[in-house]
Amino acid sequence: MTDVKTYQQFIGGQLVGSVSGQTLAVENPANYQVIANVPASGLEDVNRAVEAAATAFETWSLTTPQTRSLALLKIADILEANTDELGKIEQSHTGKPLSVATGEIGVAADLFRFFAGACRVPEGLAVTEYLEGHTSMVRRDPVGVVASIAPWNYPLYMAAWKLGPALATGNTVVLKPSARTPLSALRFAELVAGELPAGVLNVLAGAGGTMGDFLVGHPKVRMVSITGDTVTGKHIAEIAAGTVKRLHLELGGKAPVVVFDDADVDLVADTLKFAGFWNSGQDCTAACRVIAAPGIYDKLVAALADRVKAITWGDPTDGSELDMGSLIAKAQADKVEGMVSRAIAANAELVVGGERPAGMHGAYYTPTLLANPDQASEIVQDEVFGPVVTVQRAADEDQAVAWANDVKFGLASSVFTGSISKAMRTARRLQFGTVWINEHFTLASETPHGGVKESGYGKDGSKYALEDYTFIKHVTINTGI
Ligand code: NAD
Repeated sequence: MTDVKTYQQFIGGQLVGSVSGQTLAVENPANYQVIANVPASGLEDVNRAVEAAATAFETWSLTTPQTRSLALLKIADILEANTDELGKIEQSHTGKPLSVATGEIGVAADLFRFFAGACRVPEGLAVTEYLEGHTSMVRRDPVGVVASIAPWNYPLYMAAWKLGPALATGNTVVLKPSARTPLSALRFAELVAGELPAGVLNVLAGAGGTMGDFLVGHPKVRMVSITGDTVTGKHIAEIAAGTVKRLHLELGGKAPVVVFDDADVDLVADTLKFAGFWNSGQDCTAACRVIAAPGIYDKLVAALADRVKAITWGDPTDGSELDMGSLIAKAQADKVEGMVSRAIAANAELVVGGERPAGMHGAYYTPTLLANPDQASEIVQDEVFGPVVTVQRAADEDQAVAWANDVKFGLASSVFTGSISKAMRTARRLQFGTVWINEHFTLASETPHGGVKESGYGKDGSKYALEDYTFIKHVTINTGI
């Protein structure tokens, strides 16, 4: 029998239940057991959290970068000191292997450290006399109360992408983790409560829907940062338009992997074993759409088949070292199963996998490789967000680039080739926020992550995130009086 824990929201520096007293159950997708109850945050809870954040903004926005930096460094230390506990929590509501979940806590700590340093060296236009008798300067000021809305695939890591730059630049935050994975953010708030003045960080729990719409539309929220599905992003953008809020949209992806004839087949196959199936393929930059030149296609499909068959997967609950655990929920496994069945019905060739394992009580789907899908088919055009990689054969360089760009998303991409000029030529033509060359997936706190097209806009990580969470204010002094 699993021990069912009760968590609280974090509002105005206090751990509190929902005003309505209602709760939501959170389950472990690796075995479908209920593991916790969290408050079902409602409109009154949202109001309290936004009011607390608005009040805290009056003083937090006036603190020095040093003060904020020291708080973020302490938060990073707390994350690191509690890695084991937070890693186990992260595993329990996502169904991922423990080593993967634990690794993400270290990544989150590094993000807080990066923003702690970066916020101390703001950059901008030189102060000088652009008009005679007038001295002009540009300030970068915090935007205000930020509603930070996080997805379920890397719960605390995605929250750190949002909290780091927002808090470092003097904003206050109402964080809403996914209703599927709220536990790590709620526990995080409890752990760091002493490091931030009351109201600077508030964490709610609840599904999007009515409560999410209310948060996004709240007049005292001045910016909304969402990482999630493109459909959710569009919906949020419509609501935010009502009060013309600043938006930071990190939405879906469908990353192409362009492989030319002169690429190293083993390098591509080894990279894809990792980058196509990491986190059960539930990654917005997953290397899910291989476009291979004709001379390498057959060798590549064979090499990929070997690697995909070698992926270890199963129930990670007992701490087994696996490449893949479960998916996030039964609904996600249903979605993956449906998309693969429709791809096969539309003449894609099933090379490996394509199964919902019988007898396993959890959200599992086997690592899957599909060959030769049509460019216009759903499996090529839409996000699967599961352990499924497709391989297409392109006639030449122009067709490979055209197919790579021929999706609504523009988040991440990669190109594999032995030719530096072909790599650079292709990198220029790919319409994606990231292009990896002979690589796929690497990311550091210093490097920008974000998309174009329907993958959204705004950058996570890097100094550019600090720009997104501040606005430029021009101040001119009349020095002629
Ligand atoms: P989702 O869109 O279902 O949910 C994301 C968050 O939005 C959740 O917290 C959810 O509760 C909230 N939400 C939903 N409706 C809302 C509303 N009306 N108002 C306010 N909040 C609302 O996405 P998901 O299923 O949690 O995550 C998977 C998606 O996230 C994929 O599409 C993936 O590509 C994307 N993603 C993108 C990036 C990136 O950096 N671009 C990173 C990770 C995940």
